[in-house]
Amino acid sequence: MLKDRLPTLQKLILQLQSVPYLATKNVYRVALHFLEKDEQSLDAFCKVLLEAKKNIRQCALCFNWHEGGQSCSICADGSRNKGIVCVVETWHDLLAMEKSGGYDGVYHVLGGSLCPLEGIGPEDLTIEQLITRVTSGAVQEIIFATNPTPEGEASASFIASKLKGMSIKISKLASGVPIGSTIEYMDRVTLYKALCGRRPF
Ligand SMILES: [Zn+2]
Repeated sequence: MLKDRLPTLQKLILQLQSVPYLATKNVYRVALHFLEKDEQSLDAFCKVLLEAKKNIRQCALCFNWHEGGQSCSICADGSRNKGIVCVVETWHDLLAMEKSGGYDGVYHVLGGSLCPLEGIGPEDLTIEQLITRVTSGAVQEIIFATNPTPEGEASASFIASKLKGMSIKISKLASGVPIGSTIEYMDRVTLYKALCGRRPF
């Protein structure tokens, strides 16, 4: 019906359907949201999108986003310890780590995690670039901050196997009981991981 009577709307719906993370049931709501906007604000929205695409680049070293210059603000920061690299899956994981305020090393953004079922292999991530970074000799320590999911764990194990034999320190984030939560309300996996990762008192 859309194709015959509302071909332009169908085109819009098709474009929205191609946006990952946008739930199918929300596609029509988002289309309506755009159609209800006035032309001026819609124009401003499109301009910002194009401007972002034009100006925002990935850092050649760590794959964090940046604007202008050759590297991101973290890699360019002289006070950061370049010998310690925290490996994260995505840019927003990097932001979360930064918000913790307790890390002064640098990062490596993988661009996702290994997921054979979805066809995501090592070549789809920045694993090769990380290995090159380590073999260049500038890295003394790798901290895995991948998610505690099967995909995140598999990614960390795969990279660790590639780094085997290299004289660097490899560690991963401790997982355990979140501050402020109670044992009663913790999920099974978190509680099990906390138990496995217990430390001397
Ligand atoms: Zn960088």
